[in-house]
Amino acid sequence: MFLEIRDIKKSFGQGDSFVEVLKGINLEINRGEFCVLLGPSGSGKSTLLNIIGGIDGADSGDICIEGEKMSNMNEKRLTLYRRKHLGYIFQMYNLIPNLTVQENIEVGAYLSDKPLEMEELLRTLGLYDHRKKLPNQLSGGQQQRTAIGRAIIKNPDILLCDEPTGALDYKTSKEILKLIETVNQKYGNTIIMVTHNDAIKDMADRVVRLRDGMIRKNYVNEARVSAQDLEW
Ligand code: ADP
Ligand code: MG
Repeated sequence: MFLEIRDIKKSFGQGDSFVEVLKGINLEINRGEFCVLLGPSGSGKSTLLNIIGGIDGADSGDICIEGEKMSNMNEKRLTLYRRKHLGYIFQMYNLIPNLTVQENIEVGAYLSDKPLEMEELLRTLGLYDHRKKLPNQLSGGQQQRTAIGRAIIKNPDILLCDEPTGALDYKTSKEILKLIETVNQKYGNTIIMVTHNDAIKDMADRVVRLRDGMIRKNYVNEARVSAQDLEW
């Protein structure tokens, strides 16, 4: 199994502000799978992504990547995992304002020994003709494409996407989801994505739904998400 999430528990706060966010999450994801994570606001989706991404620690449980436990990784190994094997995109694009599209993507390439070929990637992203522009000369969708490029140029094993279309209109969102699907098919990256956009129903290999700190649904391929599934 490529990625195993084993009995992950996580709480925040103390006393009156104590909240048990993840109450024992178990999930297995195959290499190359496109997995969508659904659930109401506050159900722990971002928390789970951050634990998989090694930027937050679980209280108990473990993440195993190709059989290697994250809890056994020393700091150097964990840094390597985050730098080389993991890409992350967020609702905020977080581009560097004084760098061009191509230069922003190059930032990601510095993290890899074997970055993808720039021109081909720019064309895949639909950014080739915009490569010399600065972020403030781009639409929101083009800025997110640039952020995807920065995450993907190192050809990460895992791409974590936390509501990547949250700031975009429906049509642009659909284009971005399509692009992530193309990336998944072309480069074979394993994708775990939080989204509320119903266009995802044709793309996901696996649909996982969180509620009250537990996985309430986990199903493969038929992946026809009902409108109910996408309610907040
Ligand atoms: P989602 O992404 O599904 O909306 P989150 O994972 O962001 O949910 O948050 C789940 C719960 O955990 C929320 O109640 C949130 O307030 C709480 N939470 C998340 N991160 C922290 C933190 N660093 N400190 C305290 N509470 C947090
Ligand atoms: Mg969130």
